[in-house]
Amino acid sequence: MKFHHHFRTFHNKAFINNQWVNALSQKTFPVMNPATSEPIGCVPDMNVDDTQHAIKAAQDAFQIWKHTTGKERSFYLRNWYNYLSCNKESLAQIILQECGKPIKESEAEIRYGNSFVEFFSNEARRIHGEILSSPVPDKKIFVEKQPIGVVALITPWNFPYALVARKASAALAAGCTCVVKPAEDTPFSALTLAEMTQAAGFPDGVFNVVTSGRENTPKVGSLMCTSPLVAGISFTGSTNVGKILYKQCSSGIKRLGLELGGDAPFIVYASADVDKAVKGAMSSKFRSCGQTCVASNRFFIHCSKYDEFCGKLLEQVSQLKIGDLQDRATNIGPLINQAQYDKVSTLVQDAVSKGARVLTGGTGTPLLYQPTVLADVTPDMQIYKKEVFGPVVNLLRFKDEEESVCMANDTLTGLAGYIFSEDVAQIFRVTKMLEVGMCGVNEGAISMAEIPFGGVKESGIGREGSHYGIDDYTYMKYICIGSL
Ligand code: ADP
Repeated sequence: MKFHHHFRTFHNKAFINNQWVNALSQKTFPVMNPATSEPIGCVPDMNVDDTQHAIKAAQDAFQIWKHTTGKERSFYLRNWYNYLSCNKESLAQIILQECGKPIKESEAEIRYGNSFVEFFSNEARRIHGEILSSPVPDKKIFVEKQPIGVVALITPWNFPYALVARKASAALAAGCTCVVKPAEDTPFSALTLAEMTQAAGFPDGVFNVVTSGRENTPKVGSLMCTSPLVAGISFTGSTNVGKILYKQCSSGIKRLGLELGGDAPFIVYASADVDKAVKGAMSSKFRSCGQTCVASNRFFIHCSKYDEFCGKLLEQVSQLKIGDLQDRATNIGPLINQAQYDKVSTLVQDAVSKGARVLTGGTGTPLLYQPTVLADVTPDMQIYKKEVFGPVVNLLRFKDEEESVCMANDTLTGLAGYIFSEDVAQIFRVTKMLEVGMCGVNEGAISMAEIPFGGVKESGIGREGSHYGIDDYTYMKYICIGSL
């Protein structure tokens, strides 16, 4: 196979200007396998000096990359995609080990990530301008799209591969060059993506990866937000860090894309097909062990369907297989780290102390938290207000549509929402009223490269995926041809 590539599974160096490098300080930090709590390897603990070096390399590369045609960039991206898809089984093992995802989910993440590289390899050729109608005969109005420059991509641990692929493929398609800062828990997927850009023949400095431990990260992030050589930041992660970056970017009026936390409502109406709703609940809640920003976080069930939904959900939850990540039947792996485990466990304890009933689960052994279903959840419980990021279903009842929409919108965030109804008029009414950026109707799995992923309210700014995903990485330039 032409694109088969023997790559290093766990790189111990970062990737700057097409070279594998140590931190200037020679410092490293260890990365753990959450399933075994054993270290998998060490990566460079880079600081601002290393990051300056990477930004400079990306800036130099931009001077060349910005002059490539969409067709040429499409060719590079397609080549990258060929390497990535040809090596998908080995790539999945990296996610499995650094992120603790069961093998089937690790493979699904590789397919998901690769679908963006493929999509944007096509999109690169279609970043068109426009000629607008002029109000006067002696002027012509052109609008052109140009790449913004060097972009810094800061990514989280829950999709260590796909989110780097999603951001970088859009940025590269648009003609930007990038410096990636992967999450400290999961740097290896990003480093292997870098190795594959090398295999695919990308020019020096177009794609760079800077790894930093927890202590250096805020300084590195701050440099990325303030360096005059960086044109924009794309960040996926917590709302708190998103707000820090938004502030920091204000000093240089940087372009900013933010994909932050969610608090997805999941509403089952009286007309719903409960089997569809249970299927949707299982996929939107238990994928990645509940550690996704589009995970259903609050379940509102119409009182006429509550018992049927609970019964059928419990039956499905009891069939989830926990444990051995290499087993293709496994659905549930460990949470990413002790801090996440403690957070989930504390939220459940708080709910139980305030009257929630545990229908199943409610406990675990670090870092494996049992799939849990809580009934009788009320708005005064912490678990109602916080993004759980774990395998916990919180059930609440409602009586009418207005109440359901009111409760669903009773949050500062607005990423995804899910509704289950067989009433067409209700589907149109409710999807219009929900304050979310994405809405699944009778569907719990809504992410694809073809869709504009993103949120409203405190869930973020901008969209990733689809042709809209190019917008964060391009400036519009208006050109007026006069004296005609
Ligand atoms: P999570 O809660 O999902 O771990 P974070 O927002 O803490 O989310 O992390 C997402 C990414 O943001 C990671 O790559 C992390 O290293 C990075 N990060 C954390 N703090 C900062 C900061 N102050 N500046 C820039 N990046 C940061």
